[in-house]
Amino acid sequence: EERFRQLVESTSDWIWEMDKNGKYRYASPQVEPILGYKPEEVLGRTPFEMMPCVEAEKMKATLEALINSGQPINQLQNVNEHKDGHQVVLESSARPFFDDEGVIQGYRGVDRDVTERKRMEEKLRHLATHDSLTGLHNRKVFQERIQDELERSERYGHPLAMFMLDIDLFKQVNDSYGHAAGDDVLRAFSVVLKETVRKTDFVARYGGEEFTALLPETSLEEAAVFAERLREAIAEYPFELKNGRKLQIKTSIGVACYPIHADDWLGLLNAADKALYFAKWSGRNRVETVPESRRG
Ligand code: GH3
Ligand code: MG
Ligand code: MG
Repeated sequence: EERFRQLVESTSDWIWEMDKNGKYRYASPQVEPILGYKPEEVLGRTPFEMMPCVEAEKMKATLEALINSGQPINQLQNVNEHKDGHQVVLESSARPFFDDEGVIQGYRGVDRDVTERKRMEEKLRHLATHDSLTGLHNRKVFQERIQDELERSERYGHPLAMFMLDIDLFKQVNDSYGHAAGDDVLRAFSVVLKETVRKTDFVARYGGEEFTALLPETSLEEAAVFAERLREAIAEYPFELKNGRKLQIKTSIGVACYPIHADDWLGLLNAADKALYFAKWSGRNRVETVPESRRG
């Protein structure tokens, strides 16, 4: 028994036993560094009393189902509230124990604090899906999103519009004011872009000074109006450098729409790219679409 006690108390995990009503009958001392409660404070209480309401309801249903079927608990993640109020994510694993008649009496298990691991995972996920300069979604996410949206549009017979934007003569900004000033402009540009499109639209930084927007359930006519509004919003926005100097930034926008210009996502991207090229070629600071006769 002494050997077991030492083992139980030397691990950084919290070891517990609960009865079939979900009430703790034993809690190892590690519950205190993890949740802020002394072992004797959790005895007779259920884990749900230490969870936010929504989580408690969800976990109650999960545990009930497990108890009824006598199943083990396998690395079940759950959100808890530390005694001081901050959230702690635990990963619970447990085995049921039974009386002589084979009736479930409760669970013996282990709770591991995975809060830090979850935070790191979240951070890595954010880094992999967002552009670090502007905070917008990156090209990879955009390419996934356009495929999803195109599938949805196909299924429901909705149009799907997209913009491809490229800042006009951006190299001059870098050349005249430096790369750091260029970066500031890109950040501010992203804010204007995000604030001008609708909540249901999806914007991304596609590359250097190229941005994309997806407009679900939007016809070509509507998209052209929105793109023109966006072009104006950018042209009128007073970009300001750190030295107080005001800059006017202009942008060219290529607009393409499913199913008019393409029947798959790559085709849609290509059509928007072509339209953008056409806008640059036609003098910049313009919105263009590729006329149907120019397809291919
Ligand atoms: P155009 O109207 O034809 O688009 O002219 P442009 O000067 O914008 O076109 P170009 O593609 O020649 O130049 C884009 C410039 O954007 C070149 C590159 O140095 C700059 N750029 C790309 N990414 C970044 C970035 O993250 N920060 C800064 N400061 N500049 C960038
Ligand atoms: Mg460019
Ligand atoms: Mg450019």
